Amino acid sequence: MKCEVCSAPLDPETLRCPVCGARHTLVCMGCGRVPEPGEKVCRECGEALVPGLDMTREEMATVGQKCFMPYSGDRVYKIYLGGNLDGGGHVFHNLPGYTRTPPEERVVLPSLVEGHPIYGIWNEYFCVGDEFMPALQEATYARMMSIREIVVSRGIQECFTYAFFGCAGLEVLDLPRSLKRMMNDFYDLFMDGKEVMGNGVKKTPITIRYHGTEEDWQKVAVTSRLWDYVDKGCIRMEYLGRDEG
Ligand SMILES: [Zn+2]
Ligand SMILES: [Zn+2]
Repeated sequence: MKCEVCSAPLDPETLRCPVCGARHTLVCMGCGRVPEPGEKVCRECGEALVPGLDMTREEMATVGQKCFMPYSGDRVYKIYLGGNLDGGGHVFHNLPGYTRTPPEERVVLPSLVEGHPIYGIWNEYFCVGDEFMPALQEATYARMMSIREIVVSRGIQECFTYAFFGCAGLEVLDLPRSLKRMMNDFYDLFMDGKEVMGNGVKKTPITIRYHGTEEDWQKVAVTSRLWDYVDKGCIRMEYLGRDEG
């Protein structure tokens, strides 16, 4: 399998990338769980085990990603990228060194944090509460403009409504076959299908590059608006086929 950050072949023993050093950990393509040593396919659901990008909290804070990791005692509940839940848990953006600056043109969202699988992508991923206010949205779009491509790592199960809020420059969204629900439909960028960028910048279509077949995508829960945007040419679907080898 290839590195999700730089596409170099991973070391088959360690699942580390020999080129960029990114760490990967096996996750189930079907249910997203981390297998026990020795499992060849997932013993819960029978699906393939694939390497997903595994980052530390500090690494995520440094590149401007945040994560909500609810826990109680020794039990870790579903972990989300982004996240605005209050209550018990570990909110990564309270870490020293967290930067809200969207990092690079190509952003890879990990599917594990310190070996724990990340279930889904919540809202407030790169944005925080105030930036959702209509009066501030244009500034939010400008701040997020540098992001051209977002890669969702293998193992992630859900994208919520505001998962990619404000990513005005986005051209490619790379989605894994593990995805079950795609609730983000880019309404914040396309509204009624017209170009809504207040700064006069023409919003280019977004290509959803899906690592599965068209039949696989039919099983993913999506909004009807997403299909409307496909019809209007705002979103283009590209089916790469199953490529997890
Ligand atoms: Zn790499
Ligand atoms: Zn499974």
